[in-house]
Amino acid sequence: MQIEYLIIGQGISGTWLSYFLQKEGKSFLVIDENQPNSPSRIAAGIINPVTGRRHVEVWMAEEIMPFAWKAYTGLGNELGITAISQKNIIDFFPGLQMRLSFQQRAEENANYVSLAESLGDLRTQFNYDFGYGEIKPVYTAHLETILPAWRNLLQQNNYLLEEEFDISQLKITVRKIEYKNIIAQKIIFCDGNGSASNPYFRNLPFAPNKGEALTLEIPELPDTHIYKKGLSLAPLAAPGQWWIGSNYAWKFDNENPTAEFREKTEALLKNWLKIPFTIKEHFCGIRPATLERRPFIGLHPQHPNIGILNGMGTKGCPLAPFFAKQLADYLLYNKPINPEADISRFTRILTR
Ligand SMILES: Cc1cc2nc3c(=O)[nH]c(=O)nc-3n(C[C@H](O)[C@H](O)[C@H](O)COP(=O)(O)OP(=O)(O)OC[C@H]3O[C@@H](n4cnc5c(N)ncnc54)[C@H](O)[C@@H]3O)c2cc1C
Repeated sequence: MQIEYLIIGQGISGTWLSYFLQKEGKSFLVIDENQPNSPSRIAAGIINPVTGRRHVEVWMAEEIMPFAWKAYTGLGNELGITAISQKNIIDFFPGLQMRLSFQQRAEENANYVSLAESLGDLRTQFNYDFGYGEIKPVYTAHLETILPAWRNLLQQNNYLLEEEFDISQLKITVRKIEYKNIIAQKIIFCDGNGSASNPYFRNLPFAPNKGEALTLEIPELPDTHIYKKGLSLAPLAAPGQWWIGSNYAWKFDNENPTAEFREKTEALLKNWLKIPFTIKEHFCGIRPATLERRPFIGLHPQHPNIGILNGMGTKGCPLAPFFAKQLADYLLYNKPINPEADISRFTRILTR
């Protein structure tokens, strides 16, 4: 089989790269083994323009937020699914200090945050003492609908090989790569944490981060918003189904869910919710995060037929479409990649 691009991974990064290459009429094959705990399969899909206790704007929010809305809406229209919805965050203040800090942020005219307690009294559903603020606009990318729908389309067109990619069988020459019976001009790794042990990219400063989440049934909670109190409680696509997470562990010695997270989360829910809930599942995944919190995009400086779209960290949903488009434009039209994301910033360590 001869193709232009071999893509490893169909998480949210591989999905978007294959989408943009397909739009340009390029030939490609995606190899993905459908790992059930890959972060793209357990994330809530929240696209939040602010971060941290001070609610500062995320990197490139003003460009990335509208790009994400347009890209997911377009993908959804093409696949006949709802790929994205606006679900603003109702952020419950845990104490007076946080309320004052949020208020100050809103008064500084910070984009995206306001104290407009527009939903009125939420005491039928929640216990709370210090009010809430609103973060707006916040989107949810419906990963649990998008990934299978895109996979289906890839399968129908014979663009997908569902198996484990084995790097020991990859042969690189100057003009092409060979993998089993596949000959391609380029191979692009969108394999999340897999790249942290890939011989071509393992020197990049990956900083894998473990995160857990629970899925719940809460039939009486209106699914118009994401609710937050330390953890985020986000509606899933199916009515009455919810997701709550997450924690962030930089040091861990296994990839298993912990009893500690489940117990703490259950205690928080019992305290916070006045309506019945049932815990369904408990997930854990390893985020492909990076030390300097910027993605890894581009071609290997010594092997220009090997590329990467990775390092999405905690924000794969907004970053993946934006940087998949940049990578596709670079591959096809030699347009520049944002220097903060371009792996050419690591040329020295990649050519060691
Ligand atoms: C609990 C949790 C909650 C999160 N919530 C959010 C959120 O609300 N919003 C947000 O923006 N981000 C969130 N994230 C982060 C987000 O999930 C990641 O940034 C994103 O999913 C990374 O996507 P990716 O496609 O780059 O990698 P991955 O999701 O890791 O996908 C890699 C793909 O490669 C495949 N693969 C890997 N190795 C091989 C191999 N050898 N052979 C074949 N296939 C292979 C896997 O099957 C997988 O499909 C969350 C993460 C976690 C863990």
